[in-house]
Amino acid sequence: MTAMRDLAETWRCRLWLGLCAMLFALIAAPAHARALDVGRDFCHAVSGTALGDDALAGLRFSCSGTPTAYQDRSLWLRTSLDGEGASRDLALMVHNSRFDRLAVGFSYADGATRWQQVRSGDFGSHWRAGGQILFEAPGRGAPLTAVTMRFDGLSGHQFVRARILPKDEAGMQSAGMAAAVGAALTLLLVSCIYSLSLAVAVRRQYLAWQAAWAATMLLWGALWSQAHLALVPAMAGAVTAQAGTFLACLAIAVATASAVTAVEHGIVPKGLRTAALLLGAGVGVAGIPLTFIRGGSLAALADLLGLAIIADLVAVVVYLGWAWRRGSIEARDFLGAWGLPMAVLAFIHIVDVEDGLWGGGSKLAVLVAATWQALWLAAAATRRLAHLRIERDHARDAEAQAQQLARRDPLTGLPNRRGFIDSVTPLLDRARADNLPAALLLVDIDRFKSINDIFGHEAGDAVLCGIGRRIERWEGPMCTVARLGGEEFGLLTIGMEGIILARFAESIRRGIAACDHSEVVGERPVTASVGVAEVRPACDFKQLYRLADEALYDAKRGGRNRVAVQRHQKDAGRASGREIAASK
Ligand code: GH3
Ligand code: MG
Ligand code: MG
Repeated sequence: MTAMRDLAETWRCRLWLGLCAMLFALIAAPAHARALDVGRDFCHAVSGTALGDDALAGLRFSCSGTPTAYQDRSLWLRTSLDGEGASRDLALMVHNSRFDRLAVGFSYADGATRWQQVRSGDFGSHWRAGGQILFEAPGRGAPLTAVTMRFDGLSGHQFVRARILPKDEAGMQSAGMAAAVGAALTLLLVSCIYSLSLAVAVRRQYLAWQAAWAATMLLWGALWSQAHLALVPAMAGAVTAQAGTFLACLAIAVATASAVTAVEHGIVPKGLRTAALLLGAGVGVAGIPLTFIRGGSLAALADLLGLAIIADLVAVVVYLGWAWRRGSIEARDFLGAWGLPMAVLAFIHIVDVEDGLWGGGSKLAVLVAATWQALWLAAAATRRLAHLRIERDHARDAEAQAQQLARRDPLTGLPNRRGFIDSVTPLLDRARADNLPAALLLVDIDRFKSINDIFGHEAGDAVLCGIGRRIERWEGPMCTVARLGGEEFGLLTIGMEGIILARFAESIRRGIAACDHSEVVGERPVTASVGVAEVRPACDFKQLYRLADEALYDAKRGGRNRVAVQRHQKDAGRASGREIAASK
């Protein structure tokens, strides 16, 4: 167990290190891309949407302040390249956001401008994994001097993210991004299916929430990264961005439900539980109007939503921390799982990584952290189930042992009456079906009470043990033995009848009389009477016992140390017989 725990710790350590190294490598990777800041790098102009793209030359750009009142019009953002475009083949990578149309114009030193465009619902071949749109500057003799983006119906310039980078690097980044997103989505899918099967197998509500959360993150990841455009290209653009907002809010609500329901009722104060659930539900519900908003209010509402999300996360962490202190293992696992996403959220709020991570920015970091969280939770659930299984196996062993003990007589080690009935009932049933004879031999020690009275109870026990050992030797394929209670033993035989059975009973009587008890009772002879019930076909144990008891009574009344037989045969047309075979 300890070795397993050590292994798990080492494995977890390695995973942490690996993840940190990956994040570091992604952030620190030498990037030749230049991130363009809307406020700093661009001059802006606003016009009516009816204007053609070639109206660019006539526009009056302002290079200070922020653009306003462009939501129902066209926002033109222009940046100069200052010699940067002379030597290289350049590309512009723009993040998807809510707009109707985006046209990109590459202007050259000879005065020409070449336009490319995408529309909401039709990104053509410009979409790339990681929620980006790629525009490659057409190669011309003249150097590139400026790049202009024209957004029609843009919701908010705050959401515009763009980078200028060499074409070959854009290709590599897109490939790296596709691999990272593909891996994360696959792992989320695996963890979703796994959590769902666990939820069905062990019927735990929080595992179902966990599966729902992984599924929501999977959908969000697919939509944000635009992987779905390979299947439904018409979803390109604003629809995807809007659905992404809804799924991100839903994911937070579902994650909250999963963490809260993982902790048993009564561990955490009800108020805290309700507060966490309400905050989670609030974020989920807030996602619905935010999904449909297209316009300037989006940025302010997004800030409000950010605050609600932080409040929800804090509530969940306090809730889990409380439960952990009260000994909840589920809470400890959840805190472990939430640790990285929390750190990532904090990190992306402090450090601007939007243009890092191959252009995936904070969204890729969140996707990786979510994948980590899903895997951690799945691993934690597996570990808990493994513990439960071990405990269940122990309980089963203990129960089997108790059952075994309940069927054995502790003094002689022979089966007791209960054990005897359990083993002979199926034998009698089979014998009845096969029309075989069955016999019960009741062996009762003669005047045993006087042994106790004269030599003491311990001596009596020793005699019982000695006889028990002798009786045990008759146990075999045709004979089942037991101590039925007090100084009475039972032997059941199948297939023996008539003279053979009588001889067997007689050999038992003799064998017991021949036992040596001289160490405890000196010269005092110890004998037993045997009552035999012989039936054909076999009957049930109760009937058989009643007959054998009658025979035993006969043997006792006949003078003890003898065998008496009660015969009961239906098929031979004979009436049930009673005979006493006195043998001495
Ligand atoms: P009979 O020949 O008629 O069978 O006489 P008996 O004395 O053997 O029969 P009785 O039923 O009068 O007494 C049985 C005694 O067996 C009484 C009880 O104290 C004793 N006994 C029952 N179980 C045990 C046991 O586990 N250990 C010992 N030492 N004595 C026991
Ligand atoms: Mg008795
Ligand atoms: Mg007796």
